[in-house]
Amino acid sequence: MHMKLPSCFVTNIIMDSPTLEVDQHNAVSGSGAVHIIYVPSHLYHMLFELFKNAMRATVENHELSPSLPPIKVRVSLGGEDVTIKMSDKGGGVPLSKIDRLFSYMYSTAPTPHLGTSGGAPLAGFGYGLPISRLYAKYFQGDLQLYSMEGYGTDAVIYLKALSKDSVERLPVYNKSAWRHYQHNHEADDWCIPSSDPKNLAVHKIQH
Ligand code: ADP
Ligand code: MG
Repeated sequence: MHMKLPSCFVTNIIMDSPTLEVDQHNAVSGSGAVHIIYVPSHLYHMLFELFKNAMRATVENHELSPSLPPIKVRVSLGGEDVTIKMSDKGGGVPLSKIDRLFSYMYSTAPTPHLGTSGGAPLAGFGYGLPISRLYAKYFQGDLQLYSMEGYGTDAVIYLKALSKDSVERLPVYNKSAWRHYQHNHEADDWCIPSSDPKNLAVHKIQH
């Protein structure tokens, strides 16, 4: 059945996304493409999450603009690091909120509804950044956000360029680590829920 919508229901929905500009710099060979050895699924996950965040911020920040500014990616290979910087003009985040973005389940997107249709949600689970940073740190790298509130954000992934430096960072679980977790349960989080009030006495500064 073909139904004609009344004109008040017809909105101007434009399906659009920012373009991507990629630039690479190989300081080791002087010129040419950057080639690295890395776990493909880890790299894919980190970049996919950063692309989604940058694209969402750009689209939401330019709802009324006639065009969307591109997302610029710069890849640089040095003697020690491979650095990937993704810059967007998505309006940025204030400095006081940057650390919070890395908390599990923190999201400013509406809670996604999981159904059989409609594909995977773009955002809303709130683990894109913390999981991506975990992947980066797993092989001695890092992921950091540098933002200019009112303008945009640079998300930077640092990876080790040399496989001899890319060793797994595994948690040490021995007797002293066990004791540390027994005595230093600083705050409840989503994986260790507790109804007990936190004992603030242990956090008081000693005079
Ligand atoms: P999600 O995308 O599911 O919300 P993330 O961990 O990827 O979870 O991001 C957490 C929050 O950080 C986002 O909801 C958004 O508010 C903020 N954020 C992340 N990247 C950017 C960015 N490039 N520009 C502005 N805000 C961002
Ligand atoms: Mg995200």
